[in-house]
Amino acid sequence: MTECIFCEIVAGRAPASFVYTADLTVAFMDIRPITPGHTLVVPRRHAVTMREVDAASWTAVWDVVKRLQAALYETPGVRCEGINLFVADTPVAGQEVPHFHVHLLPRFRGDEFGLRFPPGYGTIAERAALDQQAQNIQAVLRS
Ligand code: 5GP
Ligand code: ZN
Repeated sequence: MTECIFCEIVAGRAPASFVYTADLTVAFMDIRPITPGHTLVVPRRHAVTMREVDAASWTAVWDVVKRLQAALYETPGVRCEGINLFVADTPVAGQEVPHFHVHLLPRFRGDEFGLRFPPGYGTIAERAALDQQAQNIQAVLRS
């Protein structure tokens, strides 16, 4: 046994309800669905955070996300009027399983799921501050 439950699932040593399997990635049902149809897309290769995911696995994961989102809208028994994609990158962002994964979360009117915004949210930021942040990020991207 490794320490990582998703590695165990990928290796077939722990059970999961798969919806898709391929060379670089798999998708299976979340064991504690927020709404019916809640699915996880996971690279086979262990990587904890987004930074650690190799380029080929990254592309494969997001390609599956694209295909799965379309399928969820059509799936009988899945009330899918909309979808949230969610990635929790590191525990401070809510990551519980330390193996990168993308949540596909079917949404419907009245599902009672929601995001909680911090106090003060809604204030339009100063343009100068936004420009400064954009420049700072650009500088990192270029480096
Ligand atoms: P995170 O907060 O890390 O983004 O979310 C981890 C997700 O993995 C949770 O939604 C949780 O229900 C799901 N999960 C945790 N353990 C298992 C498991 O053993 N099997 C499956 N299918 N899902 C799991
Ligand atoms: Zn793992």
